[in-house]
Amino acid sequence: MRIIADSLAQVRARIGAAAALAGRQPGTVRLVAVAKTHGPEAVIEAYEAGARDFGENRVQEAAAKYPALKARWPDLRLHLIGPLQTNKAKQAVGLFDAIETVDRPKLARILAEEMRAQARRPDCFIQVNTGEEPQKAGVAPGEAVAFARECLALGLPVVGLMCIPPAGLPPGPHFALLAELAKQAGLKELSMGMSGDFETAVRLGATSVRVGSAIFGERT
Ligand SMILES: *Cc1c(COP(=O)(O)O)cnc(C)c1O
Repeated sequence: MRIIADSLAQVRARIGAAAALAGRQPGTVRLVAVAKTHGPEAVIEAYEAGARDFGENRVQEAAAKYPALKARWPDLRLHLIGPLQTNKAKQAVGLFDAIETVDRPKLARILAEEMRAQARRPDCFIQVNTGEEPQKAGVAPGEAVAFARECLALGLPVVGLMCIPPAGLPPGPHFALLAELAKQAGLKELSMGMSGDFETAVRLGATSVRVGSAIFGERT
């Protein structure tokens, strides 16, 4: 019956094994359970099995699902991992504990204003389009370091970089590129790796992996 709890335990064990192989402590890798499209009961089961970080890609869906859960469990941390429109920046600053998709100057300015207005400072990640795919969000790799500096100068609490490698290509080179850019920018956190490739990401230095279907099952 406890399918989510079992899957979560398996993912944790795989993260631990990948970390050990890379000579890293498993505790240095945060597991963000991506619950998009799944109802609050799935979040509750994962929380009760020990998950504390949850990822959502839509502000609207997160706003419907989490306020009651966050009121009940103050240590639940919510990560925005999907594109953010500027007209939802206010709501996002109020709701999320991490915003992983900061990807353009206008959004950065509005987030900085909202954080001041609300006196809330969710961790920010710069999304980098490592594959330079035209349809994908994120700053180009060549602009990532300068953009991170620009965001910090605006007062955003930028902690790291995030990427989603191109589908169907080996992800390793993209993870290695993200790690190199974070090093150049002086940032510690690397949000990279999903159900299909989180072990590779851990090997290449991920401090946060975003895992959905391996925990909650396929999305319909
Ligand atoms: C959906 C999603 C994930 C999780 O994907 P799975 O393959 O189900 O693990 C991770 N990151 C982002 C940005 C996503 O949108």
